[in-house]
Amino acid sequence: MFSQQDLDFDRQHIWHPYTSMVDPLPCYPVVAAHGTRLTLADGRQLVDGMSSWWAAIHGYNHPALNHALQQQLAQMSHVMFGGITHPAAVALCRRLVAMTPDPLECVFLADSGSVAVEVAMKMALQYWLGRGERRQQFLTLQRGYHGDTFAAMSVCDPHNAMHSLWRGYLPQHHFAAAPQCGFADAWDEDDIADFTQQIKLHHRELAAVILEPIVQGAGGMRFYSPRYLQRVRELCDEFDVLLIADEIATGFGRTGALFACEHAGIAPDILCVGKALTGGTLTLAATITTRDVAETISRSEAACFMHGPTFMGNPLACAVAVASLDLLQSGDWKTQVAAIEQQLQEELLPLREHSRVADARVLGAIGVIETHDAVEMANIQRFFVEQGVWIRPFGRLIYLMPPYVSRREDITRLTQAMAAALDYSQHFTNAR
Ligand SMILES: *Cc1c(COP(=O)(O)O)cnc(C)c1O
Repeated sequence: MFSQQDLDFDRQHIWHPYTSMVDPLPCYPVVAAHGTRLTLADGRQLVDGMSSWWAAIHGYNHPALNHALQQQLAQMSHVMFGGITHPAAVALCRRLVAMTPDPLECVFLADSGSVAVEVAMKMALQYWLGRGERRQQFLTLQRGYHGDTFAAMSVCDPHNAMHSLWRGYLPQHHFAAAPQCGFADAWDEDDIADFTQQIKLHHRELAAVILEPIVQGAGGMRFYSPRYLQRVRELCDEFDVLLIADEIATGFGRTGALFACEHAGIAPDILCVGKALTGGTLTLAATITTRDVAETISRSEAACFMHGPTFMGNPLACAVAVASLDLLQSGDWKTQVAAIEQQLQEELLPLREHSRVADARVLGAIGVIETHDAVEMANIQRFFVEQGVWIRPFGRLIYLMPPYVSRREDITRLTQAMAAALDYSQHFTNAR
């Protein structure tokens, strides 16, 4: 089913995320996935600890998601969204409007997370044009991640996103110091001092603040204080700046709340969702805004919002997203995520005592081990596969975000493999 020639072809001709064509790291052929298990071409089964990057929250090959796809497939796979609407898009947007905080009620369907962020940033620019101002700057946080397209990259952490590579091309925005108060730490008003200073200084040119609420994901897997987010909301109101919440990673229950903004009891002016929206089945994202922002954009010089992807509102993606949101509607995710959180706390937090570990932290169904040295990717990846688990670390972070349907034994397999991996020096580099 998968030969050595196939692997060789892959190595020579196919880009994978953030890989080299000169010295690519090994790839593992997966030929099927069911529930919490990935099946390798040689028949081995791996317990999934990644949900395919936050997405496959209900596990793989879920019958309800497959059924929704098949039903939609029998009607139509795709139709253009310009001048046409269809039942799957309406059903999805109804649910999104109902489940997101009240002021959010106008939905733009985008085809990936990065595009949803581009759309949110463009909405902010057009909003200010609608108010007769040309505001083109954004304020964001260090250690953030918002995607790989250029506008999204311009608000990613300057060091992680290697802004030096794009000097002169990438727009320059403002970066406030990353929050230091952890999720459950006592609040220290100093934590918001740099942000406060920057918004005071730059608010007249700021179109929006953009951030990941509560969890900074790919920029460091950091969990910060809900109080920080509340202060950001207050400051955005005080200085009349829009707030964009990028919940592409955190949305749909991952942090223990349906949306991470709920931990702080705030609503953004623009919300981006993606990743778990379709339960990890198809690529789809959405940018949801208030009636005020939507109407102000529509009164701007362009008289419309200037965006419209070819595959906007793809019916298959919308139908499977509806089925995924229906599964969430049952509310089982709450007990599942709470149980995973408790188990991760029990099994990962003691690893703080390990000499190789700088920190261990857990929030919702996210468990993170931060090590002193960066991982030696090929070695540690091979070890995890030999242990029968799929865990994909990066830098100094070994982390889990398993499907919500993971059983207790699945989580134990994952945390035991993480603990065991710490004991081998060849899994880590001393380069830094
Ligand atoms: C993954 C991610 C994105 C980008 O989404 P893609 O679908 O990969 O384009 C944007 N923001 C956050 C917070 C993400 O985690």
